[in-house]
Amino acid sequence: MSTLVNPSSLLVTGTIGIDTVETPSSRADRVLGGSASYFAAAASRLAPVRLVGVVGEDWPAHHRALLESLEGVDLRGLETRAGGKTFAWGGKYLVNMNDRETLFTELGVVAEAPPTVPAAFANSKLVFLGNTHPEVQLGLLKQVPQRTLAVADTMDLWINIAHDSLVALLGNIDGILLNDSEAMHLTGIRNAVSAGRRILAYGPQFVVVKKGEHGAVLVHRDGVAAVPAFPAEADMVVDPTGAGDTFAGGFMAHLARTGKTDFETMQTALSWGTVMASFTIAAFSLDGVARVTRAELESRYRDFARVARV
Ligand code: AMP
Repeated sequence: MSTLVNPSSLLVTGTIGIDTVETPSSRADRVLGGSASYFAAAASRLAPVRLVGVVGEDWPAHHRALLESLEGVDLRGLETRAGGKTFAWGGKYLVNMNDRETLFTELGVVAEAPPTVPAAFANSKLVFLGNTHPEVQLGLLKQVPQRTLAVADTMDLWINIAHDSLVALLGNIDGILLNDSEAMHLTGIRNAVSAGRRILAYGPQFVVVKKGEHGAVLVHRDGVAAVPAFPAEADMVVDPTGAGDTFAGGFMAHLARTGKTDFETMQTALSWGTVMASFTIAAFSLDGVARVTRAELESRYRDFARVARV
């Protein structure tokens, strides 16, 4: 799997959502969210990224303006579907700021036909299938035949309502990222490494099991690696939404910019994912990750490497 890739050919698809988030001390109403938005904002800090997604006619103009303001995000794959409703999600964090409850999920355009990959993106090499319906993920994959690495994310909703499509997807991708409760839900195995190993049996080369404030584990056919989370003080955690997607953005963008996808590069990519997520949780919506500079990222990466000795 050590393939050289063009660093400008990272493609993401997933949801572009309108989020309403409650935390024990604050809330944000109808802000820009969605797996593809978070991923693209994060990845673009390190490498150019192509976004393929669909919104409805109700998508707020200021959400579009925010995505358009992100340097390095190519929005030629963003479709506004006539008569459609934008994906909307509401979530509430418990006092520990780690566990959350989904209050509502309105699929809207996500329940319809997948968006089309524009001809200009068809040569993409690294593909990230952010959280969305597995059928949409499979539909997208077919439109990027020149890919060298396809990685997906998933979550409980899809394990519940689209289990068979998710298993079909696993047979067609190289890697999957999911959190520990989802890994357990999918496999029935509580231990993250053993659950990861079971998922490898469905077809992928590697699985990243995210464990929230306890870090992440990479279970790869070539070995196992782990990183802790960035040790954040309580007042640094404002809204954990998007931590998983921005982790993925940092992880994939590091592979894209190095042009390597071997086990050792993935080990370093785990740290970039961790650093990226640490900025997301410090603000609502994309604010934390959208405004971070390259110098701040590199400085936190050095802090993380020192603290975690990675
Ligand atoms: P994360 O905190 O990384 O799990 O990502 C949260 C983001 O994912 C929010 O911005 C939501 O809009 C979006 N989201 C929530 N549920 C789903 C779902 N079932 N499929 C796709 N995206 C979702």
